[in-house]
Amino acid sequence: MQIYIDGAWVARKDAKVSVFDHGLLYGDGVFEGIRVYSRRIFRLDEHLERLYRSAHAIALDIPVPIREMAAIVAEGVARNRCEDGYIRLVVTRGEGALGIDPASCPKPSIILIVDQVAVYPRELYEGGVTVVTSPTRQVSHEAVDPRIKSLNYLKNILAKIDARVGNAHEAILLNREGFIAECTADNLFIVRDGEILTPSPQDGALEGITRGVILQLAADAGIAAKEARLTRYDLHIADEAFLTGTGAELMPIANFDGRAIGRGTVGPITTQLREAFKRLVRIEGEPVWQGESGANKPKYSPTPLQ
Ligand code: PMP
Repeated sequence: MQIYIDGAWVARKDAKVSVFDHGLLYGDGVFEGIRVYSRRIFRLDEHLERLYRSAHAIALDIPVPIREMAAIVAEGVARNRCEDGYIRLVVTRGEGALGIDPASCPKPSIILIVDQVAVYPRELYEGGVTVVTSPTRQVSHEAVDPRIKSLNYLKNILAKIDARVGNAHEAILLNREGFIAECTADNLFIVRDGEILTPSPQDGALEGITRGVILQLAADAGIAAKEARLTRYDLHIADEAFLTGTGAELMPIANFDGRAIGRGTVGPITTQLREAFKRLVRIEGEPVWQGESGANKPKYSPTPLQ
């Protein structure tokens, strides 16, 4: 495994960061999780745009331009001969003094890991996951806007603990008004009367890349889809429900707060969208490396950004 840290490619055992890095000390930084399917990096530009937006929102200047970052990511996939995998791209505030002031951190650090991911066992995609409402609330946009994909995942981790304690696979975070925001690391969708509904970023949802893809696939398939304010009531009366995320992809929800959703089996729209998603990820974009001959030569060239 070759890991990128601030311009150098190092072996896993040598991939170390400073104990004075504010990413470690304070969770001060941003990150992305990105998938590789059949040597193709899925929606890299969208992930990078979100990363740079998140960084901008916390006044963190990523020290390489977005196009160069795209090339680094592609190089990481090629160097690691990654066919199907998961990329973790992290930008921390960097090394500084023992105080929270980011002014003491002159240079943000960039870390890139290319590895495998298996969020859920395969069988669960056939039967769906169990989800509970977490007592842990989504953070208010008045504190930290939930659209910022930052290294601060403590509330999500607390909600994940709530899920485990409740014997569930996942937990839903409500915002402080009681509307559904999202799951611990995934967006949430329900299907009602043939229409799909998902909470808006204003209600505390991350602008998930997979969420956007699913909304697009629904539109392409002629399935009505829109953002909506949802409460626990909407989940209880939903015909189908599923969650989406880079790691989980599209995962059906079978049970919510101890009650079956719909008929308790994976519904037709969930199945249709999951199939469409699986097809899309295998064909979209160009492979970034090629077998023997082209190994180590990233083929990816990002589309120019406006
Ligand atoms: N919400 C949260 C809190 C997340 O961390 C993620 C990413 N794992 C998502 C939603 C899903 O976003 P994406 O589809 O971009 O992975």
